[in-house]
Parts: sequence; structure tokens; C-alpha cells
Amino acid sequence: MSTTTRALHATAAKAPFEATTIERRDLKPTDIAIDIAYCGICHSDIHQRDNDWGRSTFPIVPGHEITGTVSAVGDAVTRHQVGDRVGVGCFVDSCGECEPCVEGDEHFCAKGAVATYNSTGYDGERTYGGYSQHVVVDERFVIRIPDALGLDVAAPLLCAGITMYNPLKRWGAGPGKQVAIVGMGGLGHVGVQIAAKLGAEVTVLSQSLSKEADGRRFGASHYYATADKETFKTLRNRYDLIVNTVSANLPVDKYLGLLKPRGAMVSVGLPTDPDTVHGGSLIGRDRILSGSNTGGLPLTQEMIDFCAEHEIAPAIELIGADTVDTAFDRVLKSDVRYRFVIDTKTLG
Ligand code: NAP
Ligand code: ZN
Repeated sequence: MSTTTRALHATAAKAPFEATTIERRDLKPTDIAIDIAYCGICHSDIHQRDNDWGRSTFPIVPGHEITGTVSAVGDAVTRHQVGDRVGVGCFVDSCGECEPCVEGDEHFCAKGAVATYNSTGYDGERTYGGYSQHVVVDERFVIRIPDALGLDVAAPLLCAGITMYNPLKRWGAGPGKQVAIVGMGGLGHVGVQIAAKLGAEVTVLSQSLSKEADGRRFGASHYYATADKETFKTLRNRYDLIVNTVSANLPVDKYLGLLKPRGAMVSVGLPTDPDTVHGGSLIGRDRILSGSNTGGLPLTQEMIDFCAEHEIAPAIELIGADTVDTAFDRVLKSDVRYRFVIDTKTLG
């Protein structure tokens, strides 16, 4: 006997969302049932709904920035109790035994981590995400939300937060470091806050100066428009680290030119088409071009605790389930301030 829950699904690429119901499995001994309160809208939800990456299966119920309250626990659950405030990010299962899993890199699981939606679980069932009212997840993939964070603002941290915290920590954002964040949308505006609280001197590289006041409020010391050609001359060789959050292709060579010798540019934005890079842009000053994929569970918990301690919170626009299509359109136009979050009680 599974549980029926209300959800939003799209039945084909680029199709509008429709109200539906889906089934959630009965609790296995290590499972947790969560009443979902909020779910953030990540740009990846749009890529997947639109089948930009050619890997989408329909119908699709997106959503991997989930927060809510534990409503039931399996017999063998030890980490959470009924009533706990919790979150679920991009993954809901992994083998738990391979080297990456043991080291807390569940997203690199050798067997293949199971994504929160548009994936197939080890039981052969399709996974459906957080644009719904209820979800069942193995306890290893459930994050504790500190009391200092509202469940609404905590939701975007489950993907945007960890996706920025991971490369900022790994590449040494901190005191004495010059860090640039390219694109100030959902990921970018959280990245600015985290990098600043880690102690780095932060620059935002945005298409225009229209969001400069917000960027400075989030902790940026500098703000430049990439549409201005002078920007790339002024900032040459300046940065230890550039994190690129842009969902479209950028002229990567131009950005690499902004790195100091041995500086690193890390892409987290995932455009549909490949980027082109000239080897000379890297070789000239031993520069590094890297990528970063979300993060494992221990680091996700560390990130949430860090955000609570340092009063980092996404700027959100809370929306009802009937305006998700409009929200998708606005994200595509870079008209997001700075993360849409669905109030899931509006699903029915
Ligand atoms: P978002 O809210 O749409 O933010 C992207 C920002 O990029 C926009 O706000 C805009 O910022 C800038 N931008 C958009 N189009 C641009 C263009 N044509 N040229 C230059 N700048 C442009 O999206 P998001 O949710 O932050 O996600 C960003 C990307 O990261 C997506 O591709 C998403 O799939 C990917 N992602 C990756 C991971 C991972 O693990 N690596 C995790 C989550 C998401 P400005 O207006 O400031 O220029
Ligand atoms: Zn995401």
C-alpha cells in the first residue's frame, strides 16, 4: 500500500505543468516520510523539463530543493524523528559501500547515485521530485535543518547552497583571496554570500549593473557588467577563483584571462551546447579550468550549518503551484530575485 500525494508534472518537453497525483512507496526500515512544505525552483528543473540535456523521461515531476517535516520513520531509522525539520537535495540513494560513498561523495557513487527526480531507483521505480506534498527517502539522504533557518529560505540551499559551497571550499575561498562569481541568479546570489562569509573579497560579474545594490548587500565588494568591454581589460589577471554559474555558453577564454597565474575557474552552470576553450588561455599562466557537481551529504550538512551560523539566507519569492510556468519563464529571462520557492500546500 503506497501513499498517494498531489504533485505537478509535465508530460512532454516544454509542456506546461499540470496537477496530478503520484504514489510514494511504503517505508522500508531505513526510510523517512516527509511532508513537504517548500520546494525551490532550480534552473536545472527547467533544463530537465525542456529536455535540454537529452536525458529526460516524461512525465516528469521536478524539484530537488525540498524542505519539510518528518511525518513517519521506518523501524531501523536512527538519525531523525517524527516532527524533525529536514531537507532533501539532488540525490535520494546510492550504494553506500563504494569508495566515494564511504568518503561522503555519494554523488559519485560507483553504482550510480539515484537522482531525486528523472532517475530510476535501485528498485526499478522512477523517481519524482519535490513539486509535490510528500516524499519517502532513505535516511542517509535527509539533511537536518537548523532552527535558525526558516524552511522556506532553507529550501534553495539543498541544491544552490551546496553547489556553491563545494567549489568555494575546495578551491580555497577565504581571507586574502579574490573570488569572482559569474551570474547572480539562484546559485550566484547564494555563492556571493557564502564566499563573503568565508572571508574572501568577492566580485560579481553580471550581464548588467541592474542588481548591483543587491550584490553589495549579499557581501560583494565589487560589481562589474560583463556587457562592458572595459570590464575584461580592467580585471585581467585579478582572481584566484572564478565560479561560473551561467546557464548559457560564455566566451570562456575571456574569463580565463581574468585569473591570476595558477588561478582556477570552476563551471557549475551547465549549458546545453559544449563550450570552446583555447589551450593557450590555460597554458599561458598555468590556469585551471574545472567543474563541480553539487556535493555529498556530509558537506551538505556542513553547508546548512554554516549558513545558519553565519545568517546566510537565499532571497526568495514564494509562489503558488499555479504560477510555476510563469516562474520558469522569468528564470529564463534572468528575471529572478533570486530564487522561486513553491509553497506546496497550494497544490491542493
Ligand atoms: P539562474 O537563477 O537562471 O541564474 C543564472 C544566471 O546566469 C542568471 O541570473 C544571469 O545572471 C546569468 N545568465 C543567464 N543567461 C545568461 C547569458 N546568456 N549570458 C550571461 N549570463 C547569463 O540559474 P541557477 O539556478 O542559478 O542555475 C545556473 C546553472 O547552474 C544552470 O545551468 C543549472 O542547470 C546549473 N546547475 C548546476 C549544478 C551543479 O551541480 N553543477 C547545480 C545546480 C544548477 P546575471 O543576470 O547576473 O547576469
Ligand atoms: Zn539544482
